[in-house]
Amino acid sequence: MTNSRSSVVILGGGVIGLSCALFLLRAGRDVTLLEKGEVGSGSSHGNCGTITPSHLPLHAPGTVAKALRWMLKRDAPLYVKPAFDAELLSWLLHFAMLCNRRDFHRTAHTKIALLQRSREQLGELIRQEGLDCEFAESGTLYVWRDAGALAAGFRDYEALRELGVPVELLDGAALRAKEPALKEGMAGGHWHPGDAHLRPDRYVAELARVVRAAGGTILEHRAVQGLRIDSGRVAGVVTAQGEVAAAEVVFALGSWSPLIGKQLGLHLPIQPGKGYSITYARPQRAPSIPLLLKERGVCVTAWGSGYRLGSTLEFSGYDDALNQGRLDALKRGAAEYLEEPEGPAVQEQWHGWRPMTYDDLPIVGRAPQFANLTLATGHGMLGVTLSATTAQLVMELLTGRAPSLDLAPYSPVRFGK
Ligand SMILES: Cc1cc2nc3c(=O)[nH]c(=O)nc-3n(C[C@H](O)[C@H](O)[C@H](O)COP(=O)(O)OP(=O)(O)OC[C@H]3O[C@@H](n4cnc5c(N)ncnc54)[C@H](O)[C@@H]3O)c2cc1C
Repeated sequence: MTNSRSSVVILGGGVIGLSCALFLLRAGRDVTLLEKGEVGSGSSHGNCGTITPSHLPLHAPGTVAKALRWMLKRDAPLYVKPAFDAELLSWLLHFAMLCNRRDFHRTAHTKIALLQRSREQLGELIRQEGLDCEFAESGTLYVWRDAGALAAGFRDYEALRELGVPVELLDGAALRAKEPALKEGMAGGHWHPGDAHLRPDRYVAELARVVRAAGGTILEHRAVQGLRIDSGRVAGVVTAQGEVAAAEVVFALGSWSPLIGKQLGLHLPIQPGKGYSITYARPQRAPSIPLLLKERGVCVTAWGSGYRLGSTLEFSGYDDALNQGRLDALKRGAAEYLEEPEGPAVQEQWHGWRPMTYDDLPIVGRAPQFANLTLATGHGMLGVTLSATTAQLVMELLTGRAPSLDLAPYSPVRFGK
């Protein structure tokens, strides 16, 4: 039974699906978005909310050795659950093969255009639409306690300089002068003045508000069960409540993408990269700049409305348990660097699954098998940062405009099937 019709149907109501909806509505398209739970309830909810062109690719030289050392510690920032999972093993092998200088530089040079453009577009979007999401062009600070680790981090400084990303080296005293919430005795840090931050749960709620106001339809509690294919096209989106017909379909299912993708024969090498966060009422000595506490891999973001410790990257499949050990590790990590590491009251303990591709690039482009299916997924650690330009590219694809960036590096075809 076909019980509704829309020119574009978007699958998934995270920051990517909602941003695509808004850009398509602005381009005059009729949009319906289907979300299995509530909009913004996936990875887009409790993440750290930093907007970071300064974020370098994960597959740096030396990452494999570091990961193997961390594997021996249950509360390390990176953890791979030992289990036989052929897809995860293949993903890890492909990732390991990219952990070399040449591939690191290639990805960094490719991704920087998308990152920089999206950082600018996100600010414009927030201003133009009046999105109330505690956006601040605050920069970010990377902080090291240990002088040896700081010295090793110099190669990131050099890589960012080469990419044209503004970055400054700070010694311990300059660091503390910039951010007095830090304890004394830090070795030093990197200041990234071009970065920004926002409150991500508010951002997605605001995106949903303006999508509805622009005439978009958001159907919550409408889980997509599959797609009905006819003559090489998606003829309908199947849900328990009926089938939704569409001229075009945008696939923005984040970490869940391979589950529906598999039914369609799409090869989407995405692993759920589990991360955690704790949100508190704002402490008195909250940092004014988002911090990445480097040795512990903890991200600290403060807003007027609250304060969040977040991060860790765990590969344990679609395991949705909230691991108290990992949450405690966030607190212990923050306590090594901050005068007041926790807020007066915990508001939320959370986990989310980052949609991780092994080459650390998102998947944006037409699915080669189906004439009217466009993929917008695999945004990994940076989905909020990359959301605005991803949505612009999807809008251009669906409206026949020339793409404003070369889409080849993001094509789903790069995975070979
Ligand atoms: C701890 C942590 C910290 C992070 N910090 C940052 C940061 O500082 N900056 C940054 O840029 N990024 C950050 N990220 C990454 C960012 O959160 C993600 O890249 C981004 O949220 C992905 O957005 P998405 O819309 O693709 O996925 P999601 O937000 O997960 O959205 C996918 C949606 O699809 C829905 N869905 C799934 N299956 C179905 C179905 N069958 N039918 C209908 N709907 C379905 C889900 O319910 C979900 O709402 C962080 C992530 C984590 C976990």
